[in-house]
Amino acid sequence: MPPTLLLCFAHPDDESFSCAGTVMKCVEAGARAVLVTATLGERGKLGDPAVCSVEELPVYRERELREAVRILGISELHLLGYRDRELVDAPPDAVRRALVTVIRCERPSVVFTFDPNGFNVHPDHVAISRFTSDAIAAAADPRWIPEAGTPYRVPRLLWTPVPAPWEPGAFDAVTPGNDFVIDIAAWRARKAAALRAHRSQHLSIERYFFNQPELDRILSSEAWRQAWGPALPSRPATDIFDGM
Ligand SMILES: [Zn+2]
Repeated sequence: MPPTLLLCFAHPDDESFSCAGTVMKCVEAGARAVLVTATLGERGKLGDPAVCSVEELPVYRERELREAVRILGISELHLLGYRDRELVDAPPDAVRRALVTVIRCERPSVVFTFDPNGFNVHPDHVAISRFTSDAIAAAADPRWIPEAGTPYRVPRLLWTPVPAPWEPGAFDAVTPGNDFVIDIAAWRARKAAALRAHRSQHLSIERYFFNQPELDRILSSEAWRQAWGPALPSRPATDIFDGM
């Protein structure tokens, strides 16, 4: 069975910001990738000039997300349908049920999400990190939601690292939390295309990526922090399956 990657994020564009290159690299090597996106980012920016009206934004962003999913080679997209900036108030039982069902069905080797501080302390990012940890633990325990499938223990959970790609120390071997530094130079043009697919969010994407003086370096690596999983032979590891 080819390994499966499961990405759990809050908004359309989180996947392209954080793990586009890692996903494309693994998919090209035969892995399958599945994305859970909890909201449609309907309170996000509209662009300048605006690409659509406020009312049209959720539909527009879903279309952008599906385009990014196609570029990244993701096989399955699960939209949880929660409201942007209200994910923290989503009913924990319902989110757990949705995520446990996906985990037991897809049986991922590696799950990716935000770190417990939500990368930038965005409440939706913090919430999806918390819900993902909750669901991974529940998915392994047969007492939780038995009708949601055979229990499954996720071997490895990875968090977004502490420094953002555009910050100093982003991919340095000595930076704590850089447990994996993945070389994605060969996929940098496609990572750029996935980011550009989120046209409505062009202001932040330009600010953090395309207007950065070191764009090429920023697009050529991705770092991950191991929440838990098999011990690594050395850190940073260069392959997300190292030690498995
Ligand atoms: Zn986000």
